[in-house]
Amino acid sequence: MSAQSFHPPVRTLMGPGPSDVNPRILEAMSRPTIGHLDPAFVGMMEEVKGLLQYAFQTKNELTLPVSAPGSAGMETCFVNLVERGDKVIVCRNGVFGMRMIENVERCGGEAIVVDDDWGTPVDPNKLEDALKANPDAKVVAFVHAETSTGVQSDAKTLVEIAHKHDCLTIVDAVTSLGGSELRVDDWNIDAIYSGTQKCLSCTPGISPVSFSQMAVEKIKNRQQKVQSWFLDLNLVMGYWGGGAKRAYHHTAPINALYALHESLVILQNEGLENAWARHQRNHLALKAGLESMGIEFVVEEAYRLPQLNNVRIPGGVDDAEVRSRLLNEFNLEIGAGLGDFAGKVWRIGLMGYASNPKNVLTCLSALEAVGLEAKGSSVVEAQRIYAAA
Ligand SMILES: *Cc1c(COP(=O)(O)O)cnc(C)c1O
Repeated sequence: MSAQSFHPPVRTLMGPGPSDVNPRILEAMSRPTIGHLDPAFVGMMEEVKGLLQYAFQTKNELTLPVSAPGSAGMETCFVNLVERGDKVIVCRNGVFGMRMIENVERCGGEAIVVDDDWGTPVDPNKLEDALKANPDAKVVAFVHAETSTGVQSDAKTLVEIAHKHDCLTIVDAVTSLGGSELRVDDWNIDAIYSGTQKCLSCTPGISPVSFSQMAVEKIKNRQQKVQSWFLDLNLVMGYWGGGAKRAYHHTAPINALYALHESLVILQNEGLENAWARHQRNHLALKAGLESMGIEFVVEEAYRLPQLNNVRIPGGVDDAEVRSRLLNEFNLEIGAGLGDFAGKVWRIGLMGYASNPKNVLTCLSALEAVGLEAKGSSVVEAQRIYAAA
């Protein structure tokens, strides 16, 4: 059999990620590959670091893109900050909190779990109680933006509580970075990881991370070696932080980093706060249209993520049929529910480049076209929001 070149269909990606990639980023990716120790490449790496510091709103020296997806950013934080026997408080209110527990246990740590219902934020009082009951805890970990449920937790308050009890903090910002307010230095976050394919609208496969000075001290003073050679920041620092003495650690994904660089230039040109406001505006327009179809949000208004709209599937509507018709007839992908939410909700993403009026209006009219009925017109309701903004 002789295989042919692969040409993917052109889709509109409105699920939980990946999101639509800006064509400028795809074009950047196709530029010539050069050596990863080439001075021209090293100059670009320095820019990526500075642009990531801007995106994270931090001056942290140890800010870099891990050469692997968001899950590897998660693992980087845990393997470097957790040693055998360490107690780690993990706040769990969705899928990604569950994975954090798995990470703690594989590092030989003991996970103390603070549970909140799916669809609700992490309760700061429960965290405080867990810290009082476990004065020997060393780290607190939580998800800022739970993509499985569409919930935003109050990162600033949770970090404050953790620090009051002398714990370092690990924060999952895979879905929040670039999409909603996130301030690493103002909120005193110690270790944070994100991903490229959500609100940065870049291709998947890279994970930006950042570590505070306190986290760096902990990593440098570990009793035991980091059990992962690839993710050991003591070694990675020699490549990303080495300045002129940059030493070979692994071959960076050169072209993927061109893409990340371009996505961060786009973010900087737009301005972080303008990007947050754009996500909010498109969320409000989508919400107006969905509500005219009688579709309700799962999450209370104060905790909703503008970039991930978790909505109840109306009674009598066939989940799988609607999603497959959207895909086949409109090239439109929306997300299914996970876990307890499977079959009950849709997760409609408005992330990064995909957060725009065209996608909002396309999604609403496509939902009406496959049979969801609106009172009046959902598109007109959404346009009213844009006209008022
Ligand atoms: C997508 C996501 C991840 C995992 O990122 P991958 O790039 O898929 O490995 C982790 N946490 C959250 C909150 C996410 O949304």
